[in-house]
Amino acid sequence: MGRVLLVSTLDEGNTPSRFSAMSWPRAEFDLDAYERKVSDGSCFICDLTRSDPPSDEIVYRTESHIAFLNRFPTLEGYVLLAPVEHREQVIRDYSLDEYLELQVALFKLGRAISEVVDTERLYVLSLGSQQGNRHVHWHLAALPPGVPVSSQQFSALMPEKAGYLMIPPEERLRFAARIRQVLKEPGP
Ligand SMILES: [Zn+2]
Repeated sequence: MGRVLLVSTLDEGNTPSRFSAMSWPRAEFDLDAYERKVSDGSCFICDLTRSDPPSDEIVYRTESHIAFLNRFPTLEGYVLLAPVEHREQVIRDYSLDEYLELQVALFKLGRAISEVVDTERLYVLSLGSQQGNRHVHWHLAALPPGVPVSSQQFSALMPEKAGYLMIPPEERLRFAARIRQVLKEPGP
């Protein structure tokens, strides 16, 4: 399990300018509880888009897409991007123009993450399950420098293997605020 990043320095306005190396403790991931939760028939992304007041997990949202923090981040700087509308097939449910529009948002978000946290390699992927989390979503996760090769790639992304980082809520909020600042997006 690699040593992982963070904590931040402050600039004017109490906004972290850049997150730098620090370790967070890791918690064991309860895969059975997770599978029960994602199989209960609700859609957690649709629930998130309708949250009122907006959930703290939301980094930003536009009319077409929503970016939010991973609830079980295995790496620092782990953000998910999804369409606001419930769609399930990552390619098949999109016209080319719609797909490219989402990729533009993904590109900008990926750039912002790489700017905010130390990123040796940015992972970008779309997974999901028709038996659970069906709503299309993209993972963007920053692999920091110094992680052993055996702990990179899928090993770095699976909470059931790596555990997940217990990042304090205030740090998660500061990270989200910094991403918004880079993207010049308003709060949720
Ligand atoms: Zn949905």
